[in-house]
Amino acid sequence: MKHNVRMRRLRSTKSIRDSLAEVSLKPSNFISPIFLVEGVKKKEPITSMPGIYHLSVDNSINEIDSLLELGVDKFLLFGTVSEDRKDTQGTEAYNKRGIVPTAIETLKDSFGDKITIFADVCLCPYTNHGHCGIPDIQTGQILNDKSLKYLAKAAVAYALSGADWIAPSDMMDHRVRVIREALDKEGLSSTAILSYSAKFMSGYYGPFREAVDSSPRFGDRSTYQMDYRDGRQAVREIILDEQEGADAVMVKPALAYLDIIHRVRQATLLPVAAYNVSGEYSMVKLGAKHGIFDEGKIVFENLTAIKRAGADWIITYHAKEALKKGWLE
Ligand SMILES: [Zn+2]
Repeated sequence: MKHNVRMRRLRSTKSIRDSLAEVSLKPSNFISPIFLVEGVKKKEPITSMPGIYHLSVDNSINEIDSLLELGVDKFLLFGTVSEDRKDTQGTEAYNKRGIVPTAIETLKDSFGDKITIFADVCLCPYTNHGHCGIPDIQTGQILNDKSLKYLAKAAVAYALSGADWIAPSDMMDHRVRVIREALDKEGLSSTAILSYSAKFMSGYYGPFREAVDSSPRFGDRSTYQMDYRDGRQAVREIILDEQEGADAVMVKPALAYLDIIHRVRQATLLPVAAYNVSGEYSMVKLGAKHGIFDEGKIVFENLTAIKRAGADWIITYHAKEALKKGWLE
């Protein structure tokens, strides 16, 4: 045992500490989610996610403008529709004049290549049963292969309206391959796919369900989303999605899954995204509100940990406030 080693020499000055930081956070690391609602001039607070709003397309332009000023240029779009527009097959998900395609066209007209649009692809915000796929009417089982064609239709609709990336979040098997084939058939070979490859069935999605009103009306998602007791399957999902043609992969949620992000980082050379989900966000907001901790410090620590674990991109609700208030410097 050497007693002349003193680790504190490496922490003795800010200059030394800064120089040894393995990771730093840049605005280009962040993807900011946008929740769209129909109508005009709408900016409705999502009560379970303080500081986050449902925005009509016109107001989403203002939001994106302010994020661009801060250096954030990547956006993940989610659509919502009223209850009467939902049906068993989630028709609104692939309506070419629906909320997401309309928003993409408007945003691309306004910002062009200054922004990168990721379009979330799933059926649950548009189905009256709230599942991510199509259920068998008798058994309630979610039918994998039947769901694929609807997901592919949605992907094509979003890509045709100008989405740069398609982000399937449904967790059906083979959806990356089917979506890739459908895009290529339409001549959309430059549209990329960010797959929600390792999406766990998590309690941390609670606030998001309010945001897109997508809770399942029966059963749960345990037959398609992953069981968090099994980390190995996440690695298999990543490898399969890579083989099916994904351009980047995602782990969701992030903070309780840093080990998964790390394992995924070792298993692939694709870009890795991590989704710092609504429950993780709201815990920080509520903790800070009650004076339990300093919000800026916690946000910096959380986002740093996600990047250090191996994420290239962090999908987070914190980006705007954190950059505005200088929390990441
Ligand atoms: Zn879904």
